[in-house]
Amino acid sequence: MELETKLEILSAAAKFDVSCSSSGSNRKNTPNGLGNGHKAGICHSWSEDGRCISLLKILFANQCIYNCTYCVNRCSNDTPRAAFTPHEVANLTINFYRRNYIEGLFLSSGVIKSPDYTMELLIKTVKLLREEHSFNGYIHLKAIPGADTRLIHEAGLYVDRMSVNIELPSSQGLKLLAPDKNKEAIIKPMGFINKAIATVNEENRIYRKKQSFVPAGQSTQLIVGATPDHDYNIIKLSENLYKHFRLKRVYYSAYVPVVEHPSLPAIGSPPLLREHRLYQADWLMRFYSFHANELLDDRSPNFDLELDPKSCWSIRNMHLFPLEINKADYQMLIRVPGIGVKSAQIIVSTRKLCSIGFDDLKKIGVVLKRARHFITCKGKFYGSSFNETYLRDQLMSENVGGSKKVCSGQISIFSYFGAGLNQLQFNIPKKETTYE
Ligand code: SF4
Repeated sequence: MELETKLEILSAAAKFDVSCSSSGSNRKNTPNGLGNGHKAGICHSWSEDGRCISLLKILFANQCIYNCTYCVNRCSNDTPRAAFTPHEVANLTINFYRRNYIEGLFLSSGVIKSPDYTMELLIKTVKLLREEHSFNGYIHLKAIPGADTRLIHEAGLYVDRMSVNIELPSSQGLKLLAPDKNKEAIIKPMGFINKAIATVNEENRIYRKKQSFVPAGQSTQLIVGATPDHDYNIIKLSENLYKHFRLKRVYYSAYVPVVEHPSLPAIGSPPLLREHRLYQADWLMRFYSFHANELLDDRSPNFDLELDPKSCWSIRNMHLFPLEINKADYQMLIRVPGIGVKSAQIIVSTRKLCSIGFDDLKKIGVVLKRARHFITCKGKFYGSSFNETYLRDQLMSENVGGSKKVCSGQISIFSYFGAGLNQLQFNIPKKETTYE
């Protein structure tokens, strides 16, 4: 099969994985090496729906021995199959990198023969990149659930970020839609990676070593809407993952209905607004000290699609407001709709020098049309009412026009580079034959 055809099939097959952000690694270039990772994030280009496009995002192979109902790559699906060799992936990455098309590699795979066999091929690929091509750019590798931890460890020595995708938020969901997988096979490598990162960091600190093991941390992805799991279950799971496995990110991927099956929900389009609400809640848990059980509970287990989670929480907790801007503590300030982390920090530092007036808040970056309902400034209230229905209408009307256009598709490497891709001369050595 032509390399270009393989690339077309295997880059299209990878687009359902959204966990491809590439920040958090500061790998340096080496003498005679190629590229570097950047701590502040190397993704400079974003597709219209906000997804990163500067990684070469491909599957190693889209053949899979498993039969997850929701997945286009499941073994029972009649779809064109392809598989790269390690040399092909390494050479493609280097070629694209040299042309400045990409700044790193995001490599995942279907399960070929067995998890260990697949993991060995992925390791061979990243070793080639690091050792033969001296590639120092960013590599995000998917760990294959069920692979031996010895292999997970070896892979972690070469890559910047690893992720083990949980995909379905509950054991019942796994049983129903991914019967070949189990919770244990997913959680075990996550626990292993977490411990190995901590051990290497500790040894580096104590013995002043410079060992590297998954320096950009681990992440995972949850599919939203393929199973009946509520948002509350999903954010409780995320909260536990951040707490127990120190994940850098949990990504939420709206279920894309590409397959018809009686066990799958009959929806016309991916639940993107629900995905957006989960990202907002995730942000609140990571940076605003919210807990999952403050945002939702068993009686109200799904997010309001008309209003963001922080506004909903504030309206439910009106007994805590209004807050006096010149007195409220930082943890409460960041809970006010319209006040972000940065504005709250400036408020706290400024009021040590002088008291803050209502007009000053705009200069500080506070969104007054939202915040005014929940604050007082020098004792004066600038809102109109504490009535819940009124507040809800006000906050909803302020949201109108502020929401970004959401695009359900994902840009493809072919649409991005167009005809230019065909003109590339891929320099792939012939020494390796495919393993199929
Ligand atoms: S293991 Fe991954 S690639 Fe294979 S069918 Fe399941 S979701 Fe698809």
